[in-house]
Amino acid sequence: MSLTFSEFLLAVAGIDSIPLFVFKAAVDFCCIYFIFYLFFVEIKDSKSVRVTAGFALLAIFYIIARLTGLNGIEWFLGKFFSYSPILIIVIFRNEIKNMFASMSIVGINMKQEEYSGEEDVISHIANAMDYLASVREGALVVIMPSGDAKIGAIAEGTEIDSLITRELLLTIFKKNSPLHDGAVIIKNRRIERASVFFSLSTNPDIDPNFGTRHRAAYGISEKVPDALVIVVSEERGEISLLHGGRITRDLSKDALKQQLSNRL
Ligand code: ATP
Ligand code: MG
Repeated sequence: MSLTFSEFLLAVAGIDSIPLFVFKAAVDFCCIYFIFYLFFVEIKDSKSVRVTAGFALLAIFYIIARLTGLNGIEWFLGKFFSYSPILIIVIFRNEIKNMFASMSIVGINMKQEEYSGEEDVISHIANAMDYLASVREGALVVIMPSGDAKIGAIAEGTEIDSLITRELLLTIFKKNSPLHDGAVIIKNRRIERASVFFSLSTNPDIDPNFGTRHRAAYGISEKVPDALVIVVSEERGEISLLHGGRITRDLSKDALKQQLSNRL
């Protein structure tokens, strides 16, 4: 005589007065409860090994349920597995996101990488200055020579120490940003400080229309002749470059790039 799994358990427990379907339903319920308890303990911290183990466990329960005729569990787990691709995407969304982020798609590297070339630095700076000029937001950027020339700032500003990116420069110079006043100092291909104030030049030949931003630019350029000083005028939307105390005005983005690559 062959016994089903439930009948076997019933016989082992010595129970014969409870109807078989009630017993089966109780076992079914306990198993579902137990399975989900185990499963959620497994995936609690969403680690891939644990999640995989959780799925494997459910698959084993599913097979046992099929073999023993526990229809409730079989139906439930069957449904569960039919939706599992969505669940896997949700559980592993960060891993999937990271995977795509590290892949190159149609030539665009989605991963933010450290750049090293002078060209990248120049492009980021020139693009940021061009954009700021187009929206009439003022900026002052000082590219210091790599030696230990002293800036002699009257206010040291805030340390940044970051890669140079167009986005960061735009964020710093955005009106109402806490760092937008004063100058950004670039040194050794990094944004070193922001919101730095210099003493103003007393040169009598400076265009009288220039205000404090341009006078500060002259000031630092006279003090550190090797520095490259970029000024964006919020009044005129004009980009100027100072070097050795001399100014070149109204530069286009390409002209600025050219000037920077000649001198950097
Ligand atoms: P713009 O053409 O953009 O108007 P500007 O030469 O006319 O420039 P102001 O209008 O006086 O100059 O610009 C004021 C801004 O210049 C301030 O908000 C500040 O960000 C910056 N600035 C003023 N003084 C200094 C300084 N000593 N050092 C660095 N930046 C300064
Ligand atoms: Mg002004």
